[in-house]
Amino acid sequence: ATPQLPRRIKPLDQVVVNKIAAGEIIVAPVHALKELIENSVDAGSTSIDILVKDGGLKLLQISDNGHGIDENDLPILCERFTTSKLQSFEDLQSIGTYGFRGEALASISHIAHLTITTRTANSPIGLRATYSDSKLITPKPGQPANPKPVHRNKGTQITVEDLFYNVPSRRRAFRSPSEEYTKILDLVGRHAVHCGGVAFSCKKYGDADVGVSTTAGATTTDRIRRIHGNAVANELLPFEVSDEYLGFKVKGMLSNANYHVKKTTLLLFINNRSVDSSSIRKGIESTYAPFLPKGGHPFAYMSLDIEPHRVDVNVHPTKREVNFLHEEEIVQKICESLQEKLAAVDTSRSYALTQ
Ligand code: ADP
Ligand code: MG
Repeated sequence: ATPQLPRRIKPLDQVVVNKIAAGEIIVAPVHALKELIENSVDAGSTSIDILVKDGGLKLLQISDNGHGIDENDLPILCERFTTSKLQSFEDLQSIGTYGFRGEALASISHIAHLTITTRTANSPIGLRATYSDSKLITPKPGQPANPKPVHRNKGTQITVEDLFYNVPSRRRAFRSPSEEYTKILDLVGRHAVHCGGVAFSCKKYGDADVGVSTTAGATTTDRIRRIHGNAVANELLPFEVSDEYLGFKVKGMLSNANYHVKKTTLLLFINNRSVDSSSIRKGIESTYAPFLPKGGHPFAYMSLDIEPHRVDVNVHPTKREVNFLHEEEIVQKICESLQEKLAAVDTSRSYALTQ
């Protein structure tokens, strides 16, 4: 018999590689939106409007009034690893943000129809560009130029259509657009609470009412009121703790002992990125337990800033769960301080009741 020979190894086509990479990074519409919101915030926007059709699978559109994108950058805007935010590997260490490194727009361009309309402060007119597989689409004969001039105000609008149109297996995995919309509202709500100075709106295409809306000038308490209601907004404790040795600072708003619900709401931002941390979640829950009735859980909004070099930035962008140096000590410090705060309020309350 002829001996069995191995099949020769060949590199995958670049387009296939990019599509695989994109599909690993963007698993659901909400992942794309998170990156787009962060980009708009990074661009110094004070107003961010989001429009969603079919849970973001048909349409995901985000319009901001930020600094816009330079005309000369449009040709490379959607290439992988092109970014205006860092230059060296050392920058990566000092930027201290989890997540994408110039990969978001590239990824989206591989698995959706992507249109970007933008105008900078010193440009007399806006430009609209369409992308596919990281590149500007070459117009067919007789079609208008790409990018093409359009009227618009300063800022950027990103339109993502037919997400996963070329990844049928992924597309089929979505059973319910309304479930995806719920995730989107949750994400926008988190940023609407956290991003002071930015007005947010999010609505379904064709709907008259907005799902989320906040104004730029609203205080953190008012933002929480808009998104989570009066019941919790009326029972909030401002919370702040920092530690120089551990290199962290936390600011937040947490519910007092008068308020409890069936499930903990934790809005957690670490270095301005919305993340989850089971150690922080568990720490908060066990700190509250003695103060709340059995089965009662708190509301907690926390913004944690950790010195950039202590943050593991190499965590994969899809990971909501994050790690940082001295995690245990930091969580302990936060919980001790929270415990004191809750105890102080509890004592003054029972004191007031006995008067
Ligand atoms: P990253 O955010 O990691 O740099 P992205 O792919 O998300 O990578 O974006 C690439 C670049 O496009 C950004 O660095 C920024 O210069 C520009 N950009 C993206 N979105 C916006 C926006 N809404 N406003 C202004 N510039 C933007
Ligand atoms: Mg980005």
